[in-house]
Amino acid sequence: MQIIFGPVNSRRFGSSLGIDLSPQTKQCNFDCLYCELAPAQPVAKQNYVIPVDEIVNALYEHLNDEIDVITVTANGEPTLYPHLHELVRRIDALKGETKTLILTNAATLSEPDVFETLLLFDKVKLSLDAASAQTFKKIDRPQKDLHVEDIIRSMQRFSKEYRGELYIEVLFVKGINDSDTEILKLNEVLLGLHNITRVDIGTIDRPPAYPVEALSYEELHKIANMFDSSLPIHIASRIKSDNYSPRNYSKEEILNTLDKRPLTLEDIEILFDKESQKVLHELVSNGQIKTKKVGNLEFFLPSENFFRKRVKNS
Ligand code: SF4
Repeated sequence: MQIIFGPVNSRRFGSSLGIDLSPQTKQCNFDCLYCELAPAQPVAKQNYVIPVDEIVNALYEHLNDEIDVITVTANGEPTLYPHLHELVRRIDALKGETKTLILTNAATLSEPDVFETLLLFDKVKLSLDAASAQTFKKIDRPQKDLHVEDIIRSMQRFSKEYRGELYIEVLFVKGINDSDTEILKLNEVLLGLHNITRVDIGTIDRPPAYPVEALSYEELHKIANMFDSSLPIHIASRIKSDNYSPRNYSKEEILNTLDKRPLTLEDIEILFDKESQKVLHELVSNGQIKTKKVGNLEFFLPSENFFRKRVKNS
C-alpha cells in the first residue's frame, strides 16, 4: 500500500509530492466516464480509512527541501477521508515553506467541515465538468444525493472566502459536455466565482473507465476562445496535436489573439509558426506584449491588458 508517491515534476504546480488517501481501492462519490481508474459504484464515505499517524509518518520520511507542493489526492475523492482536518493541521506543522494543494471534485464542499478544512490549504483545485444537471449526471455519474446546483453555490461561497490560490479544472469529453450551450453555462458559472488563479481546461489523457473520446487540441483551443477573455483559461491537456499545423499570424492578429486569451509559450509554439513567434518576441522586446506569472505558468498578453480587471465579478 503506497500512500506517498513522487515527487513528480508538474509543469502546473512544480515539484509535487503526492499523498494518496485511498491507496487500497477506489473510493469516490463520482464514477466519471473519463476516470483513469476502473468503474466503481460511487460512495458517500470511505470504507477503508488509513490512520492519520500512518500518513504523517510516511510523509515525514519523504519530505525534503526540493518539494514545492504536497498534493493531497486519492484513488477517488480525497475529501471523503474523515480525518482530513486533523491531517492538514499536522502537515502544516511539519511542511515548512512547502505549500499544500488538494485536488477535489468539489462535491462535498457544501459540507461545513469540508468547507472549513479546504480553507486551510495553500492551493485548492476544484473540478467542474458541467453546469447543467443533465450533463453533470451524464459525465460525472455522481452518488445520488449530489446536485450540481449545490456544488456551484458552494464553489461561489468558497471562492469569496478563500485566500489561497484557487484553480478550477474542467475536463471535456467529446459529445458529452462540449456543446456550445454547456460551455456558455460553464462560462457564466466561472464568471460568478471570485479570485480564480487559473482555469485549466483539458480532455482525456489516459485510457478512460468507459468508452468515451477525447477532444483534439484544436477543439480545446476553440472552446478556450468561447470563454470570456477575462477568465485565466489555460489548456492543460497533455494532448498536443500532431495534426495541428502552426499558422502565420500578423502583428495585429497576435495582439488580437492574446487580447482574447493570454497564451503560454507552449501554446504559442503549437499555434504560431516560426515567423509569427519571431514577431511575438519583437512585440515583447518593444513592450507591447508582457508576460504575467499565474501560478507556475507564464502567460503572454498585451501590455494594455496587464492590469485589466474582470468586468462582471470585480
Ligand atoms: S472524481 Fe476523479 S476519481 Fe472520482 S470518478 Fe471522477 S475522475 Fe475518478
